[in-house]
Amino acid sequence: MITYFEALKIVLDSVKEVGEEKVFFVDALNRVLAEDIYADEDNPPADNSGMDGYAVRFEDIKDASEEKPVALKVIGESKAGGDDIELKPGTAISIYTGALIPKGADTVIQKEFTKREGDTVYIYKALKIGANIRPKGGDYKKGDLLLTKGKVLRPPEIGILSSVNKATVYVKQKVKVGIITTGDEILDVGEPRTKDSQIRTSNTYTLYTQILESGAIPIIIGFAKDNPEDITQKLNSAKNCDVLLTTGGVSVGEYDLVRDFVQKELNVDILFWKVSQKPGKPVAFGVWGNDKEKLFFGIPGNPVACMVVFETLVKPAIRKMMGYKNYFNPLIDAYLEEKFERKSADRLEFVRVDIEYKDGKFLVKPFEKQGSNILTSMVNSKGLMIVKEGVNLIEKGEVVNVILFDKEFLVGESENLK
Ligand code: AMP
Ligand code: MG
Repeated sequence: MITYFEALKIVLDSVKEVGEEKVFFVDALNRVLAEDIYADEDNPPADNSGMDGYAVRFEDIKDASEEKPVALKVIGESKAGGDDIELKPGTAISIYTGALIPKGADTVIQKEFTKREGDTVYIYKALKIGANIRPKGGDYKKGDLLLTKGKVLRPPEIGILSSVNKATVYVKQKVKVGIITTGDEILDVGEPRTKDSQIRTSNTYTLYTQILESGAIPIIIGFAKDNPEDITQKLNSAKNCDVLLTTGGVSVGEYDLVRDFVQKELNVDILFWKVSQKPGKPVAFGVWGNDKEKLFFGIPGNPVACMVVFETLVKPAIRKMMGYKNYFNPLIDAYLEEKFERKSADRLEFVRVDIEYKDGKFLVKPFEKQGSNILTSMVNSKGLMIVKEGVNLIEKGEVVNVILFDKEFLVGESENLK
């Protein structure tokens, strides 16, 4: 059986990046930029004021002081968005932050160093020539490369797009991820229960929202009973997807038909089945489509296994497909708060843990219930501690690797902020 890291390598090596599409610039948030962005103009387009105050000629006020203020006649006003005006020697123009520097002015004296009486202003401080002037092109110049291909767009980058007048922008396409839920026992939300043996699905919707969180497009293809006809029909509705996920039916039982049928119906090349990991051992992976550009993951039905397989194998693959350079969840070093022991050490294990940030350190505590059917253990889990093959015992205080998936947690609680 291959190891988790071997499986991950096969998955990532199989990934082919998707193409590009043009979107309204605001909709590009959190997506991967597919073109370089250059400045269309200087920013600011002309010298403007960094303060409210008076625009003057330095020459006129260079000797101003508390004791000997210089009096100037105020001949006008320059407001943000206002028109170009001209300053005559021996005069001042009242000016506001962001407003154009009048022709002839070379310095702005902020309001607190002035006193206004009627149309005369007294200047109490000379400052330096050029004071409080934000120069044309001081932020960026026409033709500057501002954002490069491959950058993930956050609000500051959206701000750049708007300031260079880019109403539409090329980004990497989103991946369409189809979900087929299998199992004779599975009930959808809203379906009435008719038998005790029925299990209401969680996988359909944990996957759906995990796909959304990854930035991809989830598509619920449907629910298939464990029989050839139903599985065939659902697989045939999956042809438009870039990535196909099935849940359930990939073990060794007589009704575990998925692996055979994806090969038969979609011509999937299975690249591995079964990974030496816990949970999620019976996972299957393959490639399909004309250029083998599409991925298939046969995910086991146990709810925890399903979520963990998504986070550790599927999500990195679909993030990589969409052009993200950082396609993994954050990995942190943390201190184990209590001894961890396990009987069998033959597989790598993803252990659900609680995490606390204290005195500048991450502290982790594994949950007691680690069964791959215990859905509630995922609810309280802030991450997955990685316990490698061959490790039976980790002592309290040892440093461990933890995959973090609690974003709220990243906001942090620094002692210094209290
Ligand atoms: P399987 O992988 O089909 O053998 O299923 C393993 C276990 O996961 C069984 O107990 C199933 O009932 C359960 N299971 C399968 N699919 C789902 C699902 N969509 N939601 C919740 N539990 C499921
Ligand atoms: Mg099943």
